[in-house]
Amino acid sequence: MEVKRVILSIGSNLGDRIANLQEALNQLAAIGSTSKCSAIYETAPWGFESEHSFFNICIEFWTDISPEELLQKIGSIEQICGRSRTSGSYSSRTLDIDIILYDNLIIDHENLTVPHPLYDQREFVLAPMAEIVPELTDPRNEKSVLELWTDLGQHAARRHNDLVLNF
Ligand code: AMP
Repeated sequence: MEVKRVILSIGSNLGDRIANLQEALNQLAAIGSTSKCSAIYETAPWGFESEHSFFNICIEFWTDISPEELLQKIGSIEQICGRSRTSGSYSSRTLDIDIILYDNLIIDHENLTVPHPLYDQREFVLAPMAEIVPELTDPRNEKSVLELWTDLGQHAARRHNDLVLNF
């Protein structure tokens, strides 16, 4: 299979958040290569109350594995990083990885929706994405990431210029 461009959103709000993000990048290196990694953005939890804020990044990633296989791999990486799946709804997590875009595919399966259904409502996805791939378009409506971020009109995320991840 050909190598495809994938945009992943990676977040952590428990434990050593930077180490968790770094471990995700290390694990992902086994199934593809990261060409761009955003700065770390800090935001309040989305969809639930918690005293722990999130550290989020977006990466541009290239892989030849299928979307379904990628979803499975991501699940194992989340497990390796100690995420518990006891809660059915939004909750604190050591690591959360979402497939935002996979090439220009539109996927609507029971366990996988791409583009990720809520990414255009989330500053913690759009802010780091606008940094690394501002011109990339959503295959559903051809809007660019920059347009989606401008439309959302939220600028509360704190960009950590001092924190660096290796990829
Ligand atoms: P979450 O708790 O946000 O990590 O959600 C994980 C669940 O969302 C998994 O069971 C996936 O099957 C499902 N899911 C659907 N679409 C996506 C996507 N684009 N990226 C990651 N998980 C997805």
